[in-house]
Amino acid sequence: MKNNYLYTGNTTKKSSARARFVFRVFGVVAAVTLAGVALAGPKHLSVRSSKPQIVAENTDASNNHAHAGSGKDPIAEKYNTLVMRVYFRDRAERDRLAQEFSAEEVPTTGGYVTIIRDRDLYYSLTAHGLRVEIDENSSRNLSDPQIMRETFYGGYKSVEEIYAFLDEKAAQFPDLVEKVDIGDSWCKANPGACVLPSPWNGYDLWVLHITNRNIPGPKPVFWADGDIHAREIATPEVVMRMIDYLLNNYDTDADVHWLVDYHDIWLMPEVNPDGHHIVEAGGGGNSPYYYRKNGNNLGGDGCSWPPSAFDHFGVDNNRNFPFQWGCCGGSSDFVCEQTYRGVSAGSEPEDMAIVNKIRTLVPDQRGPSDTDPAPITATGVYQNIHTVVPVNLFSWGWTTTQMPNFAETRNIAAHMSAPNAGGNGYPYGSIIEQLYPVDGGSIDWAYGELGMAAFSTELSGQDFLPPYSCIDNPGCGSSQGIWPENRGMLLYLAKIARTPYLTSHGPDANTVVTNPASVPQGVPSQLTASINFAWSNNAFSQNVGAAEYYIDTPPWAGGTAIPMNGSFNSPTVAVDATINTASLSVGRHVIFVQGRGVSDFQGFQTWGPISAAFLDVTGGPTPTPSVTPTPTPSATPTPTPTATATPRVTPRPRPTPRVRPTPP
Ligand SMILES: [Zn+2]
Repeated sequence: MKNNYLYTGNTTKKSSARARFVFRVFGVVAAVTLAGVALAGPKHLSVRSSKPQIVAENTDASNNHAHAGSGKDPIAEKYNTLVMRVYFRDRAERDRLAQEFSAEEVPTTGGYVTIIRDRDLYYSLTAHGLRVEIDENSSRNLSDPQIMRETFYGGYKSVEEIYAFLDEKAAQFPDLVEKVDIGDSWCKANPGACVLPSPWNGYDLWVLHITNRNIPGPKPVFWADGDIHAREIATPEVVMRMIDYLLNNYDTDADVHWLVDYHDIWLMPEVNPDGHHIVEAGGGGNSPYYYRKNGNNLGGDGCSWPPSAFDHFGVDNNRNFPFQWGCCGGSSDFVCEQTYRGVSAGSEPEDMAIVNKIRTLVPDQRGPSDTDPAPITATGVYQNIHTVVPVNLFSWGWTTTQMPNFAETRNIAAHMSAPNAGGNGYPYGSIIEQLYPVDGGSIDWAYGELGMAAFSTELSGQDFLPPYSCIDNPGCGSSQGIWPENRGMLLYLAKIARTPYLTSHGPDANTVVTNPASVPQGVPSQLTASINFAWSNNAFSQNVGAAEYYIDTPPWAGGTAIPMNGSFNSPTVAVDATINTASLSVGRHVIFVQGRGVSDFQGFQTWGPISAAFLDVTGGPTPTPSVTPTPTPSATPTPTPTATATPRVTPRPRPTPRVRPTPP
């Protein structure tokens, strides 16, 4: 069933209570703005000859014409909803366009039909050679979050709002964020098939890729996703808060800064948008359905509708991954069951979108045998977030046999839990030990196929549908709030992503402080930190053996280690150093601190995760100007200072700012 213009987006009228409301607002706003356009038109036309008013107001209008399916149009990228004038070449094309895209009730005598839709359609139409103009004013109004704002169940974001949130971030932080479409939901892959609670045509599967694009990779991968089970509605909220935390604190928190600079962080708030769409429909959003699975309704005619918590159609995405699928009594072959595994391994588009994407990001690091461990230096961390046990889970789910990398994986889970290491305080253990058998599960795939350190945290909340206030505030069994309680755990997983198993053998670097945090060039700053193995249930605790810091260039980018002082005879050691700023350029610097244990592990030093602090170097005291400073410009940039560099008492004036070395 191909459409004429190869567009498979949402072309049907929405009629759930929520969607009806949105549609009504759309209609009103569209009518008003389009009427405004019509009224304003002649005035502009008189000034700008025959050029349509919309184009006249659109400073980048030329792109609308020049666009030929390659590259991106800045206006199309700017708004979630586009009001488009699509010019037809003959009456038959007009009628096709009008029918296929439910054109708005606006006169077509100007040679165009008016279509309100997303940028996918814009690109699809222009790629087909159609002339499309974007009415920027109307598009802006329709995309305004104030107009779109319509959460459900006390504040939870609908799929549309989650996606609008991702759009906002991509627009707000263009250097740090890209929005990546990794595939289509089942309902989008099967247009016309999804009709309950009312017809809709599915969604793209969006992931937000966070990293500083100006710093080249390769970079280690941390992937976290939410809502693989639709009714676990706290999970997309937590993923969105992680996104906000990383982006909003990039300039103020040195740990966040280096994570975003040097790691590839993939955050996917909504794995199962079709399921979430169904959940939202319950009671018009006021009593969400306890719908768990995806939108695949094949063979589900006999299942309950409205969906009950225990009986509904759909495939359980967390039983459909292509690893030990259906092997071991950890899933159901009955369509209406909560753990229905689907017709074959990886049959569901949501599962394969994640699988195919992560396969491009993380190498296969584990041998083919169930007992093959990933190397101690394996890279990549996967976190598949659920509610509502609460517990921190790891592999296996399909067998009671311990996973090969058990000791390290278990110790990471212990850290995720340890309240005195920023953890969430939850119990931890393997899926089969803490819950029940699960086969075809997400983390068994991520670990089993690729050897990633893989976890599934079941957030607290006491109910799949906790009051919205419990996301950020104490309540629902959480003393801090569901997000604050899990922030430290997520940041730890992001920090160890480069070599999670090896880094699990190292100590934390806590309370990294530069004092003063801002110094004139040449004036030293004191660096202090605490290197700590002594958190609850740390199976790898030992005495701290050393600590070191790096200025601006971390170890993996070829930075120079500078030793720190301390009494290295216990599992917790206060360390310090004096930072020589004489050769540091004026501006902000990142100071990276890490510690290690006395003993190595499998021939590797046991360095723990890095923590960082900013150091701002200011212009310094005005030097008495010598007649002519004799610059000796060297062609090669000055390397980062080594430990033996002696601090200068008086700064030497430097005529021109030097180029700082960039990390390789
Ligand atoms: Zn779940």
